Amino acid sequence: MIKYKKFVFLPEYGTNTYLIWETESKEAMLVDMAAPSNKIFNELKDLNLKYLINTHGHADHIGGNKFVKSNFKVKLMIHQNDVGMLSDARQNLSSYMGAGITSPPADIIVSDGEIFKLGNSEFKIIHTPGHTKGGICLLFDKIIVTGDTLFQESIGRTDFPGGSFTEIKNSIQKKLFILDEKLVVLPGHNNITTIGDEKIGNPFVGLYANY
Ligand SMILES: [Zn+2]
Ligand SMILES: [Zn+2]
Repeated sequence: MIKYKKFVFLPEYGTNTYLIWETESKEAMLVDMAAPSNKIFNELKDLNLKYLINTHGHADHIGGNKFVKSNFKVKLMIHQNDVGMLSDARQNLSSYMGAGITSPPADIIVSDGEIFKLGNSEFKIIHTPGHTKGGICLLFDKIIVTGDTLFQESIGRTDFPGGSFTEIKNSIQKKLFILDEKLVVLPGHNNITTIGDEKIGNPFVGLYANY
């Protein structure tokens, strides 16, 4: 069975970090380690950390990569279109945040439709460009991690380099809203929601949106 826990290690940006694990095998992944935090040592003491995944390359989602990579033997994954943001503080926007954040290189460069195993479960990469060119969602049986693509009653900003409102709208409506409405949405910021709730109520891309 898949379980998850949400953390906010970078309160200034309110970025959500998720620990997701499979209960039988105890295999685990961290998604969007926003900043270094010693809390993860306790959280991971009975788990085997297999992956560190970035839903996209912005600094507030990759700021803890170096910390995790230097403390665990873990494979770092990101979409091919956001790879350049790992090593370039201007591309990942950290030079504008007043701190030059970079990350170790990716171990696995993913693309749309790829499936990976986490213990006895698996998850699929869904490429959802629009917030950045290489934004991805991670689809499990009952949950989906949406990064800065889909939020509760909102969507990711499209005014950064690589952003496009048309693209994010297409990504959400054509690739996410076709999924099971009961799927629990774990977004990159703010509260957890469901596909069904956003399909109806999301003011930007939902049923009654005027965009
Ligand atoms: Zn972002
Ligand atoms: Zn973000």
